[in-house]
Amino acid sequence: LLSVRHLRKAFGEHVVLDDLSLDVHAHRVVVLIGASGSGKSTLLRCVDLLEDVDDGVIELEGTDITDPRLDANAVRARMGMVFQAYNLFPHLRVLDNVTLAPRLVHGVGRRDADEQAMAVLERVGLAGKARSFPDELSGGQQQRVAIARALVSRPAVLLLDEVTSALDPELVGEVLDLLGELKGSGLTMLLATHEMAFARDVADEVVFLHAGRVHEHGPAAQVLGDPQRPRTRDFLQRFT
Ligand code: ATP
Ligand code: MG
Repeated sequence: LLSVRHLRKAFGEHVVLDDLSLDVHAHRVVVLIGASGSGKSTLLRCVDLLEDVDDGVIELEGTDITDPRLDANAVRARMGMVFQAYNLFPHLRVLDNVTLAPRLVHGVGRRDADEQAMAVLERVGLAGKARSFPDELSGGQQQRVAIARALVSRPAVLLLDEVTSALDPELVGEVLDLLGELKGSGLTMLLATHEMAFARDVADEVVFLHAGRVHEHGPAAQVLGDPQRPRTRDFLQRFT
């Protein structure tokens, strides 16, 4: 579904992603782990076309999305991205936060957009909050709205960057439960996290990034439980 090949991304002299290759197959949940600064966020941002890449290919459903002739907004519509800070618009009601992109970017009419938005809010358990403003919601609820917003355009893949790390511990569970449900519905996800327990719960595959490359990639139980490479082992030891 998503294929990253020989990706290179540098900020000035600093090479962050160096000849990185990674495949994400349909209906799989792939979790990126690695030290702070190992390039997890940068990889997600490159895939979402928020960063220009220096070299390499990113294919989504067989199309090289780094082709500058493609419309970046149309490409992005095939992906949903959710960040650590949920980035909701504070002056817009929950419903309008979710309908904004469909209406402005994709030209969906108000009634259809509202209908689609209510369906995804239902899915994340927040249909009752459609008329609320973001600051009337808990952090966990706001993050679920951000996930609803990412889902509304029916993305082929959902990209999630540390979606629980800004949350109070007691609110993390509801977001993790939601991601578990989405996984159950067959959604393809690529996500970065520092929470190994979460990775263990939700991941089909785990990818350990080191020095700008995929250092180890395999079934979640294997990479987390029985890592094959010393660096992965060292990294994981810090979490036990
Ligand atoms: P964390 O676990 O802390 O979120 P990460 O794995 O997501 O880390 P990135 O945010 O991808 O790491 O950053 C990788 C490296 O790229 C870091 O050294 C960072 O300083 C650098 N970097 C990221 N964005 C930029 C930028 N816009 N300009 C310059 N350097 C950047
Ligand atoms: Mg990051």
